[in-house]
Parts: sequence; structure tokens; C-alpha cells
Amino acid sequence: MRHAGQCFCILLEKQVLSRLSHLSDSVSYIGLKRDHSARVSIPGKDELGNLSHEINRMLAALEQSELELQKARNELEIRVQERTAALTESESRFRALTESTSSAIFIYQQNKFLYVNPATQKITGYSEFELQGMNIWDLTHPDHRETIKQRIQIQQKPRGVFREEVKLITKQGEIRWVDFTAASIELAGQPVMLGTAFDITDRKKAEDRLLYDAFHDALTGLPNRNLFMELVGRAFERAKRYTDKTCAVIFMDLDNFKQINDSLGHTIGDKLLIEASKRLTSKQFRAADTVARLGGDEFVILIEDLQNPSQVIHVSKRIQQEIGKPFNLDGHEIFITTAIGIATFENSYNHPEEMLRDADTAMYRAKSNGKGQFMLFDSSMHADVAIRLKLESDLRHAIENQEFKVLFQPIISSETRKIIGAESLIRWSHPTRGMVSPVEFIPVAEETGLIVPIGEWVLQSVCQQVKSWHDTGNSKIWVSVNFSARQFRDKNLVMLIKQTLAKSSLSPIHLVGEITESVAMQDLDYTIKVMNILREIGLRFAIDDFGTGYSSLSYLNKFPISTVKIDRSFVKKLPNDLNSTAIISAIMTIAHKLNLKIVAEGVETEEQLAFLQSQQCDEIQGFLFYKPLPAEDLVKLLQKQA
Ligand code: C2E
Ligand code: MG
Ligand code: MG
Repeated sequence: MRHAGQCFCILLEKQVLSRLSHLSDSVSYIGLKRDHSARVSIPGKDELGNLSHEINRMLAALEQSELELQKARNELEIRVQERTAALTESESRFRALTESTSSAIFIYQQNKFLYVNPATQKITGYSEFELQGMNIWDLTHPDHRETIKQRIQIQQKPRGVFREEVKLITKQGEIRWVDFTAASIELAGQPVMLGTAFDITDRKKAEDRLLYDAFHDALTGLPNRNLFMELVGRAFERAKRYTDKTCAVIFMDLDNFKQINDSLGHTIGDKLLIEASKRLTSKQFRAADTVARLGGDEFVILIEDLQNPSQVIHVSKRIQQEIGKPFNLDGHEIFITTAIGIATFENSYNHPEEMLRDADTAMYRAKSNGKGQFMLFDSSMHADVAIRLKLESDLRHAIENQEFKVLFQPIISSETRKIIGAESLIRWSHPTRGMVSPVEFIPVAEETGLIVPIGEWVLQSVCQQVKSWHDTGNSKIWVSVNFSARQFRDKNLVMLIKQTLAKSSLSPIHLVGEITESVAMQDLDYTIKVMNILREIGLRFAIDDFGTGYSSLSYLNKFPISTVKIDRSFVKKLPNDLNSTAIISAIMTIAHKLNLKIVAEGVETEEQLAFLQSQQCDEIQGFLFYKPLPAEDLVKLLQKQA
């Protein structure tokens, strides 16, 4: 406007001057003042008078336009002032914003920080001055340095934007995670990068924790099943690709862990698992091996880069040695053995789970061979597994198909040699296999939970049977019923016994519950509580297979029991085995002091009987007298006896 105004004036002056010179050569001087208030007076001729008039008119117009120009200038000035004020305000707002935010905000150009807000300094630990001498990758963690370099190069194109979660290294050497966004803009014709970075370290830590928890066992910190299977999967792929090296999975379980846990408490049990895991991860084993905990006392170990599958046997032996050393936990010295199953990679495997399954199968086989054993999986075990699965499925139908039967093995008084009671023992008449031993199917029923309905059926059959003997005038013998761990822990057990007794109208004094020593010890308080409730209604309890568990004789006085049954394994070695005779004598002495009756199980010879009688054993059960008999055979014996 200003330029335009001046040009306009100059134009007018030129027009005026050219017209003046054109009108008369005699004009020698024209006074034309620049302050526009002056008037030009040209003496003489008419034309000059006219011209003077015209010039005056033009000058008046000029004056007018000058005034307007001034007004416009003033307005412009006001507007500029207003704009400047607005700009200043906007800038201070922007400053307040960038300075108060917790996000780092910075302007970056040609690998240098042009501007950094206080949060940038706070997050990075570097001062503004220090940052001005640095570039972004000086701050970036090596894990992300290349990515950031590449992305910055790419985004230098106008309007390029990228967002990335990256790790920074602060001046203090700490690692901080930031959510980094960079946008490219043009400033004064130059490309610059506007960057923001939000500190997400806490969120990342929480995410890492969640991720860690999802793949690790909380108690031992070892990888869990998920992570283990992932790693087995990778080893599996490598083994498929490179035939010169193979891998193996070791499945390990601590023998008798449950008893230790139940008798010494869960705190000691947990400590034992932690210590065992430390031994398994100690330098003893190669770094490439992965040890994981599947749960409970089950550990698995992945062995990779095996040149020879037999190497894994060596590792297994070392594991057993290491875990076999005593554990000292809160003043308790604990000795523990391990059962180990091994599966080495086979090309026939389609899925890593198959390796774990086979190692597990081999471990079960090792366990059945006794404590501290290991077993290498071989395909014949598949057949065993198939048989086991078939047994399980057949067992499910056995009740409805009425394939079970209860036999009664008489128990005689060693004094009178008369039948005073009997133990009920289940039999399974399998449609194709014939008679299946309870030793085979009770553990399967126990594992699958089928023992609960089976046990219910046994209890009902026994109560009805005994009641009918009593009703038909036979001697009022008592009968014992075996309860397995799962049955005894079943919440409905007390109710079931009460209802069954009521239904059959059998007096509880004619029923004896048998639970093994290890079942009784599993949860001492619970066992005592249940026994006491049932004793109140008149039921008695016997501890079965006594001497096979690990409990000491001192536990005998803790249980509200009436009878102790000495296990057949001791009776079998009578009368010459010193160990067995010593154990039986000790049990007799203590039990008699506690007013408990003693039954010797599995008496087969006169010599065994003679020894037991010499020790005042109260009752005898064994093939020497009777095998387990069908109800109708027992009733005949009772009639004869009467
Ligand atoms: P148990 O309760 O210790 O039963 C005694 C076992 O010893 C019976 O084996 C019996 O037949 C056997 N036996 C008795 N005297 C002799 C002998 O002189 N020589 C030999 N060689 N054996 C003798 P069975 O009937 O095979 O039962 C084995 C185990 O199965 C039982 O051991 C018990 O733990 C379990 N069982 C049997 N019936 C039931 C049941 O109805 N419920 C539950 N939960 N378990 C049962
Ligand atoms: Mg028994
Ligand atoms: Mg027994």
C-alpha cells in the first residue's frame, strides 16, 4: 500500500509536469511542494488558469487520497498490532503447553535438535544444551537404533509420519520406553521433523510382567508348559531339518512328593520344589537345556543338540544324583528320589506334544518299577497306553453293565479260629478279558474319578449283603470296606455312609472303614475330622497296609481307629527275616498299648501264623484260612460255624 501510494504520487507529479511542459515553453519554474498542502500558482495565460484549476483539483484529490491512505495505514497498523498480540499470545500458549506437558516435544533438523521442551530433558536426562549437540540415535537403544535411522530417512519426505515404540538410553544409563511419533513439515522452505515421545516405561514393564507370568511358573520362576512347548516346537523343527543332531525331552517327577507335602506342610513342599528347580538349573546342566515346571512336582527338561541319543541317559543319571542329595529345609533333612521318563526325537512325530506325551508315558512306566528309576520311551509303550485307555473306557460302562462283584475274605480270631469278620474286595468280570484285578483297575478308577460311583456301589452292595446275613440268623460278623484316597476325600462321604446304612438298616457297628496309611497321612486334620464324625455314629476304622508308608509308629495314636492291619509284605517274610520280625513286634507292642486290634494280612503258612500268635496278633486274614469268597460261599461257612 505504501509503495502503491508513492507510485501514485510520482505518477501524478509526472503527469502534471509533462502537461505543464507541453503547454508552454516559457514556463521556467513551477513551484510544487511535496507537502501537498501547497498550491501551485501559474501567472498569465488562460490555459494556465485552467490548468491551475485542474492541478488544484487534482491536488485536492491527491490530498484526499493521502488522507485515505493515512487512514488505511492506521487501520493496518492496528491490525498488525492486533495480529502481533495474537501471535505473541498464541506463542506463549504454545510455550506453556510444550513446557507443562509430560510428553517430550522437539524439533529436529539435519540430525540435530533445534528445540526440546523440558519433558524431553526429563525423559532423556540430558540438558537442552547437551541435546543440541546430539542426534536421535545417540539416545536410542541399540535394539532400535537402525529402525529409527531408517524411519527418519524415509520420513524426510514432506508430510511423512511415523510412530514407533522404542527404547531410549538415558544419560544415567537407564532404559526407558517411549511411544515416539515424528512428523515431517516444511519450515522456511526447509524440511524439519516435529517429534513427540511419551514415556511408556511403566506400561511396558506391566506388559512384560504379564508376558513373563503367562510363560513362567510363579513358584520357581522356571518356564511353564506354554513356553516349554514353544521351545520344544522350535527344537522339533530344527531336529527335522538337521539330521545330524537331535533333541530329547526328559519328564521328571519327585517320588513321594505328595506325602512330604502333606506331612511336613505346603511351605516345606514349596521350598523343596524351589530347591529342586535350582539344582536342575545349576551349571551342572548345559546352558542350552531348558528346564520347565509343568505343575505339582512335575519338571520337564529339553535337551538339544544331541549327537547321540544315549547322551540323554547320562544327563538323566546326573539329574537323579543331584536331586538325590539331601535337602535341608527348615531343619528337616529330606531325601528324595526321582522318576524319569525320556523321549528322544523321532521322525514319525508330527507334533511336539507327542514327545511330551511319550516322555510322560515312560515316566509312569519308570515309576511303576519302583523309586528312583528312569525309562526310555519305546513304541511298545504305545500299546500299553492304548490298553490303559481301553481299560478306562470299559470301566466307564462296567457299573451300568453290572460287571462288578464283591467277594468277602474271612478274617478269623487267632484265639478262637472262628470267622469274626470279612474284608469286602471288589472284582471286575470284564466281558472279554475275564477277571481283572483291583490292583490294575482301582488306580485307573482313582485317577479318573470313577472310584466314587464304584465305591458307592460297593458300599451299598456290602451293607445290603451283611444285613441279609444278619437277618437270616447268621452270626453278626462285621465287614470292612476299602476307601481309596479320592473316595475318602469326597465331600459326600459322610452323607453317603449315613444314607447307605439307613437304607439297608445295617448297624454301623458292623461296618469297618479301611484306609491305607498313606491316605490317612495325606491330610492329617481332615482324616481325623472325618473319622471322628463317623465314629460318633458307631463306625470303626482300620489303617490298612500299615508299615508300607513312611509314617512312624507315633502317628498311630493320632487317629481315632480301632484296628491296624499289618501289610502282607512283612508277613510274607516271616518268621526268618529279622527286619520284618522286628517291625511286626514293634507294631504289636505299640498298637496293644494303644488298645488297638491287630490284623495280619496275607498269612499263608503255619510258620507265619505261629510267629503271629506268639506276638499275640489278634486277627488273621490270609490264604492259609480263606481266599476271598463269593457271598454265598461265606454264608455257608457262617452256617457251618454256627
Ligand atoms: P487290600 O485292601 O490290602 O486287600 C488285601 C489284598 O490282599 C486283597 O487283594 C487280597 O486278596 C490279598 N490277600 C489276602 N490274603 C492273601 C494271601 O494270603 N496271599 C496273597 N497273595 N494275597 C492275599 P485284592 O483283592 O487283589 O485287592 C487288592 C487291593 O485292591 C486291596 O488291597 C485294596 O487296596 C484294593 N481294593 C480291593 N477292593 C476294593 C474296593 O472295593 N475299594 C477300593 N477302594 N479298593 C479296593
Ligand atoms: Mg484292605
Ligand atoms: Mg491291605
